[in-house]
Amino acid sequence: MKKVSTLLMLTVLFTACNDSKSKGEGATTDKGENPLLVESTLPYFAPDFTKIKNSHFKPALIQGIAEQKEALAEIANNTEAATFENTILALEKSDVTLNRVRNIFYALTGAHTNDTLQAIQEEMAPKFSELRDAIYLNDKLFQRVKSLYESKESLDLDAESLKLLEMYFEDFEIAGANLPADKKETLKAYNSRLATLTTTFNKTLLEANNGGAVVFTEKSDLAGLSDAQLKSLENKDGEGWKVTLQNTTQQPLLQTMENRESREKLFTSAWKRADGSAHDTKDIIVEIAELRAKKGALLGFANYAEWSLQNTMARKPEKVFELFNGLVPAATAKAKEEAAEIQEMIKEKGDDFTLEAWDWNHYAEMVRIAKYDLDENQIKPYFELKTVLEKGVFYAAEKLYGLTFKARTDIPTYHEDVMVYELFEENGETLGLFYGDFYSRPSKRGGAWMSNFVTQSKLYNKKPVIYNVCNYPKPAEGEPALLTYDEVSTLFHEFGHALHGFFADQQYPSLSGTSVSRDFVEFPSQFNENWALYPEILKNYALHYQTGEQIPQALIDKIKKSGTFNQGYSLTENLAASNLDMQWHTISADTAIEDANEFEREALNKTKLDVVKAVPPRYRSTYFSHIFGSGYAAGYYSYLWTEMLHHDAYNWFENNGGLTRENGQRFREMVLSRGNTLPLEKMYSDWRGSDPKIEPMLKARGVK
Ligand SMILES: [Zn+2]
Repeated sequence: MKKVSTLLMLTVLFTACNDSKSKGEGATTDKGENPLLVESTLPYFAPDFTKIKNSHFKPALIQGIAEQKEALAEIANNTEAATFENTILALEKSDVTLNRVRNIFYALTGAHTNDTLQAIQEEMAPKFSELRDAIYLNDKLFQRVKSLYESKESLDLDAESLKLLEMYFEDFEIAGANLPADKKETLKAYNSRLATLTTTFNKTLLEANNGGAVVFTEKSDLAGLSDAQLKSLENKDGEGWKVTLQNTTQQPLLQTMENRESREKLFTSAWKRADGSAHDTKDIIVEIAELRAKKGALLGFANYAEWSLQNTMARKPEKVFELFNGLVPAATAKAKEEAAEIQEMIKEKGDDFTLEAWDWNHYAEMVRIAKYDLDENQIKPYFELKTVLEKGVFYAAEKLYGLTFKARTDIPTYHEDVMVYELFEENGETLGLFYGDFYSRPSKRGGAWMSNFVTQSKLYNKKPVIYNVCNYPKPAEGEPALLTYDEVSTLFHEFGHALHGFFADQQYPSLSGTSVSRDFVEFPSQFNENWALYPEILKNYALHYQTGEQIPQALIDKIKKSGTFNQGYSLTENLAASNLDMQWHTISADTAIEDANEFEREALNKTKLDVVKAVPPRYRSTYFSHIFGSGYAAGYYSYLWTEMLHHDAYNWFENNGGLTRENGQRFREMVLSRGNTLPLEKMYSDWRGSDPKIEPMLKARGVK
């Protein structure tokens, strides 16, 4: 899903632009002619794709930016004393045009892009990003927000308005707006150097990934690969076959490659791609980590993670380490068992060597076939897309939350494959519009996600208009779209995000629905996956597309069992990467790191994540682009955190009667409808009756 954290949202919200007043971009800036610059007259203000053209986007985005700049200047220069209305509410309203345009623009650039949209995206990116500092260093604006924040108790605000004020203040504060002038200059210098280093890291890593590609010249080097695979690997730059690197430590082809020397060669190339090669990132990441620590200290925190976790559910690095420490013993113990099984398999195959990381996937696959034997082709006939959607995903939402769905063929879409449904409450009231765009095509980026065309808010009297995008192969004309179990899971997952958006019940769009921190946002979606295998739901949707018969119990058992395959490995490699991220970002400002490799070794050693030698971190520090090349610094733990939440939450349902309207309603009222209006840990524990525990997660992974 496209996650917009509060901070990111502000980044965009306050983005200014050099082309203020940009009439003259053509006649389309005239509000009367550009459909993006006026409210849609369709139901739910749904975008009118019969009118929107590529040429409308740039002028509309520029107009939106100009309008917002004007609004911001008006707030900052207001000679009247700051009030909630003339400052906070005015800020909240300042991006109304820009948001409308951007929601539609991003939907298209993700799901149905073209050269024109891509060019606009590139052209607009610096306008959207370069100005964050300029806005946050708008001291006049900040002083007004601050004066309100400091007198918040006497403002007599309702709870949600108070939360909105706090959110704006904290976001300014996090960005350094509250620093004295000299420190602000230092922060600016740090940010600028960090931006340069991040760019250098990404550039070097790209070269390292390319440079790490391995060329094999003998066919026997690549024994095990199919002719089709070999064909796709033909080396265009010379002879033989060229295997390019994926960003993870393990490389997908290692599973099929039978030649052990080749496996070692490919693995080692991936492992060392940015360590000791011509494209070394060690010095870059050390400087990034040290500078981030200094930045954390400048902003008044013990380390970078303390600063960056402020608005999350975890809040403190200690909480994150607590999660890791709870998981490590069970994860590594299970990985050891798996290693023993694999060693046994190596012996069975007549080989005599000690299992290494480059052998793992190759022999694990043999263990999987021998022990788990799940044949996707046997399962797929029971998972026809539309049946899974309507009789599975929608049915679960009906049983839990009382929703009903009606197909709407009269709402225009941006592509003929997109399906639209209207949602109704149990009492017949309308809830919103849902778009499902499920098939892959060249104009769509990979993966699956959810977002809003229209965000729920009482401020604008808007109900949600939400879309899910997936990348299922499109069947030939007249053929059914049959899904794998993973794809079924994805459908439930993305609709879980959609429910979080549909149940939003907020006054202000910035606090609405899925506008929560990333260690919470994946919780409702992952939680919704649990219903896919719930007997009452499964019976309703897993029907053979030809005979209509229900999926046999034996197949269900196999699906369930296969979910626990290789989980010791998978959890350990994830923990190792998550732990590296946290270790790099909890160093103090006066730490001088001598050597990145040594730091990495120690970080894994002191958390006992190096006890199974054949299980390396999912990413090594030198190619961990989530944390050194993009915005996930001190945030990679979120995957494990939300996994803990959703299993713990499902455990509550299991212990309290399972799939019932009453349970669904309670979850909706106490969690799914609350957006970002409450401290997330409190929202959760109020609903759950306790803090989240890790045991249900360990059990679900089959590691305990
Ligand atoms: Zn998701």
